Amino acid sequence: MAEIELPSPIVAKFGGTSVADFEAMNRSAAIVLSNPDVRLVVLSASAGVTNLLVTLAEGKEPEHRAFHLDEIRRIQYAILDGLNDVPVIREEIDRMLDNIAMLSEAAGLATSHALTDELVSHGELMSTLLFVEVLRQHQVEAQWFDIRKVMRTNDHFGHAEPEITTLKELTHHLLLPRLNEALVITQGFIGSEAKGRTTTLGRGGSDYTAALLGEALNAKRIDIWTDVPGIYTTDPRVVPNAKRIDEISFEEAAEMATFGAKILHPATLLPAVRSDIPVFVGSSKDSLAGGTLVCNKTTNPPLFRAIALRRRQTLLTLHSLNMLQARGFLAEVFNILARHAISVDLITTSEVSVALTMDTTGSTSTSASLLTTSLLTELSSLCRVEVEENLALIALIGNKLSQACGVGKDVFGVLDSFNIRLICYGASSHNLCLLVPGADAEQVVKTLHGNLFG
Ligand code: ADP
Ligand code: ASP
Ligand code: MG
Repeated sequence: MAEIELPSPIVAKFGGTSVADFEAMNRSAAIVLSNPDVRLVVLSASAGVTNLLVTLAEGKEPEHRAFHLDEIRRIQYAILDGLNDVPVIREEIDRMLDNIAMLSEAAGLATSHALTDELVSHGELMSTLLFVEVLRQHQVEAQWFDIRKVMRTNDHFGHAEPEITTLKELTHHLLLPRLNEALVITQGFIGSEAKGRTTTLGRGGSDYTAALLGEALNAKRIDIWTDVPGIYTTDPRVVPNAKRIDEISFEEAAEMATFGAKILHPATLLPAVRSDIPVFVGSSKDSLAGGTLVCNKTTNPPLFRAIALRRRQTLLTLHSLNMLQARGFLAEVFNILARHAISVDLITTSEVSVALTMDTTGSTSTSASLLTTSLLTELSSLCRVEVEENLALIALIGNKLSQACGVGKDVFGVLDSFNIRLICYGASSHNLCLLVPGADAEQVVKTLHGNLFG
């Protein structure tokens, strides 16, 4: 097939709630069809399906397996039942459900990360098949495309890293020609490694898929359709009167995503920044309600922009008298962490101790699960190790924070009734991070939000 020059398309991604049921799929279909520049659609699994598949993949409680399988069947059949006369697609969905049953039985005997990814991928495979059919009933012949043909990744099952150059080449050969023929519907979140086995990009990874495909296709925009009409000053589920941010810079939004704002997968903005592609975030429940544009530069960026919250953080404090006036202690600590593929998130040091949290960005793990026995054994041979769990990281995102006066008073002035376990401030002008007990996290966010954003 000859390579075709397509005018810069829009890549539209719809999350789980936007394809949760027949009505949601119809609303999302209407959004796609309202803009002829949308040529490629990336979908998540229908809401709830990935969680059910993950539970099946864990292989625990085999007595509940049938219940979980039934629940997945119920969600997908409810969509099929909304469609007219669909024997072929029903057969396809039944084949997938049989596959899921077979793989979950295997997981009950012996589970593995590779098996988990294979099993979990069925959520996106089914939602995309159903969405093509929904579009057909809107008189649009869309093409279903298996993204694993182009989304090549390494074999870190569960949080695989895409091979960007290969993705670009394969997209140009295999996907671009199809986009000129028809609207293409494909899966977020999943990929394949060198041996052809299915991988996944980490929970919430469909945003990242859309951004990577947008970059590979030189898209003019990446639209992320979700269940809230934009990015807010903090999670509106925690603070219902949080305000929508109409325009935000790549840097600020990337900091928010990195520090736990679930609205975007942490890696989403990397391709957008590299290729300077604006990202729009809006609600598929109310597409006319507007949204947030994430772009290169914004006018008059405010001092305080937003608050992000990341739960389930673990603090590691390393004490050693050998640190006193010694050189190379931190290098040794970082060497050990690097050998265990852990990068550090927050860090503070004193004369004889260093406290740090681990970066869980882009992975499905909590920081506690990164702390393996072999890591702790190695660290213990160097120093005394203290582990504190159930903490929460609260990040205040803003601009030129470290150059401004009065930030300390605005932030800490209202937090005197809370225990603040660790503070990081000054390394970046975009954030000020606090570690607080998990049980206090929401109250700290509410109090800070009330003071900084009214
Ligand atoms: P999807 O399934 O569409 O990817 P997600 O559940 O992953 O949706 O992300 C949307 C959710 O992100 C919202 O329902 C909201 O609770 C949460 N969220 C966290 N921080 C923010 C924020 N700053 N602004 C808007 N939503 C946020
Ligand atoms: N379905 C996957 C998840 O629930 C990926 C996504 O929704 O982005 O994590
Ligand atoms: Mg998401």
